[in-house]
Amino acid sequence: MHEVAIIGSGPAGYTAGVYAGRANLKPILFEGLESGGQLMLTTDVENYPGFEDGIMGPELMQVFKKQAQRFGTEIKTETVDSIERIDDGFSLKTSKETYQFKTVILSTGASAKWLGVKGEKELQGYGVSACATCDGFFFKDLEVVVVGGGDSAMEEALFLTKFAKKVHVVHRRDSFRASKIMQDRVLNHEQINVLWNKEITEIKGDKKVSSVTIKNLIENTEEDMNIDGVFLAIGHTPNVSFLEGLLELDDKGYIKTGFTTDTSTSVPGIFAAGDVADSIYRQAITAAGTGCQAAIDAERWLDN
Ligand code: NAP
Repeated sequence: MHEVAIIGSGPAGYTAGVYAGRANLKPILFEGLESGGQLMLTTDVENYPGFEDGIMGPELMQVFKKQAQRFGTEIKTETVDSIERIDDGFSLKTSKETYQFKTVILSTGASAKWLGVKGEKELQGYGVSACATCDGFFFKDLEVVVVGGGDSAMEEALFLTKFAKKVHVVHRRDSFRASKIMQDRVLNHEQINVLWNKEITEIKGDKKVSSVTIKNLIENTEEDMNIDGVFLAIGHTPNVSFLEGLLELDDKGYIKTGFTTDTSTSVPGIFAAGDVADSIYRQAITAAGTGCQAAIDAERWLDN
């Protein structure tokens, strides 16, 4: 039986790896099939302390990974499909094998939400995207919309101005929830136009996006707008489906923590860190911080 399993390879998972590795617990980290979490889909990370001039998201994740490996964290490119309680621990079934652990740290993060409107699914990858960093390049000199009013939407809109000739931000209210600095950058950008109190009700196109239907939420009217791309930045859903009722979730579906220690869950011996248990802060630095806490909590749990 191994000591510590870490599931997920974002800032929370890798930081837990650094701490559990340095505590000599020989952690095994399941990185899934795509390592690195949400920062792999980001360009400049300007607010991670220690990088005065910012750092690219994927590069930061490489540094995290190497640091965790340096202290003996074993990384497996496997997805954990289920967790079961057994005597003195947990059995983890992955895409390849079954493992047994005394403690588990859950750091599976959250995934992008979709609108659920007509045309969205069919045109995913054909002009509909939830990742400007991945797909922005394909919209050189074209016109795109970004949906959302949070920091992600601001970041995506600003990034897209490097390629698209015009970026329309469609937001369902008359004010953004994004931080002031990001709002100001968007509102003062000459390539960005904001459509307030509006939502997209349909995405149209034959094999690629050609227009969207936009509803005016004040006047209750709809009109079509020709567009080449639709980028969604409307928040995230925690990645908990593989847990299947194993532990308590909060009313938004995030893992409930804080039972005995900050990162403890409703199941003794299972700890949670990062975005999978955080619907409020959701920053790389807070994820890393809770990853550290979870590793310390797991270490103390094993000691006891
Ligand atoms: P968010 O803050 O939850 O914002 C989601 C946005 O999408 C909101 O404006 C929301 O509208 C809108 N929305 C949600 N569902 C919608 C729907 N069905 N149709 C239309 N609009 C919808 O999510 P986020 O922007 O991904 O940010 C998440 C967290 O990460 C935040 O804490 C943010 O500060 C942080 N973050 C930070 C940075 C940075 O500091 N560089 C970058 C990205 C994200 P309402 O406003 O009306 O609810």
